Amino acid sequence: MINLVLFGPPGAGKGTQSDMIKEKYNLVHLSTGDLLRGEIKAGTPLGIKAKELMDQGQLVPDEVVIGMIDSKIKANKEGNGFIFDGFPRTVAQAEALDGLMSENGIAISGMVALDVDEEELTKRILKRGETSGRTDDQNEDLIRNRVKEYNTKTAPVANFYEAQGKYKTIGGVGSIEEIFTNLCAAIDSL
Ligand code: ADP
Repeated sequence: MINLVLFGPPGAGKGTQSDMIKEKYNLVHLSTGDLLRGEIKAGTPLGIKAKELMDQGQLVPDEVVIGMIDSKIKANKEGNGFIFDGFPRTVAQAEALDGLMSENGIAISGMVALDVDEEELTKRILKRGETSGRTDDQNEDLIRNRVKEYNTKTAPVANFYEAQGKYKTIGGVGSIEEIFTNLCAAIDSL
C-alpha cells in the first residue's frame, strides 16, 4: 500500500501529476479542492459557506475538510492506497490525518513536494483561469493571497513530515513527463 501526500503551493501541478500517479499506482485520489467544488456545485450548506472563503483565497476550516476526508478513508482502506492532493494544508490537518489513518490501521508513506517559484505559480494559475472557470484563478491579488496563506499556514506541514523522516522534494518546473518521472522515483524510494 502507498499512501502519498502530494504537496506544493497552488498551481504547482498537483492535480495534473495526481491523475498520472493514481493511474500508475492504482490509488484513490482525494483532492479536498475537488471535493469542496463538488459541494459548491451541489449547492449544499457546506458548499455555500466554503465558497465564500475560497473566493477570498482563504482556507476553509480544518474540521470541514477533515470531515470530508474521514468517510473516504474508511470506504477505501482496503485498496492499494491514497494520493492526498491539497490536503493536509495545516499542521492540525496533518495531525488529524495521522489519527484517521491509524484508526483504520494504515499510515502515511510519505510526502513529496513539488517546488515552483511564486512568479511561475501566478503565471500558471492566471492561465488556468482562462479556461477552468474557477473564479479563484482569475484575479492576481486573490492568487497572491492564496500563496500567502500557503506560506504561513501550509508550508509548516512539510516540517511535520520531515520530522518523521517522510519528506522529499522535487523540482516542479519542466515538462509534465519529466516531473512525473522524478516524482515516481521519489515515490519508489519512500
Ligand atoms: P489550489 O491548490 O490550486 O489553490 P485547490 O483546488 O487545492 O487549488 O484549493 C482551492 C481552494 O479550496 C483553496 O484556496 C482553499 O480555499 C480550499 N481548500 C482546498 N483544500 C483545503 C484544505 N485542505 N483546507 C482548507 N481549505 C482548503
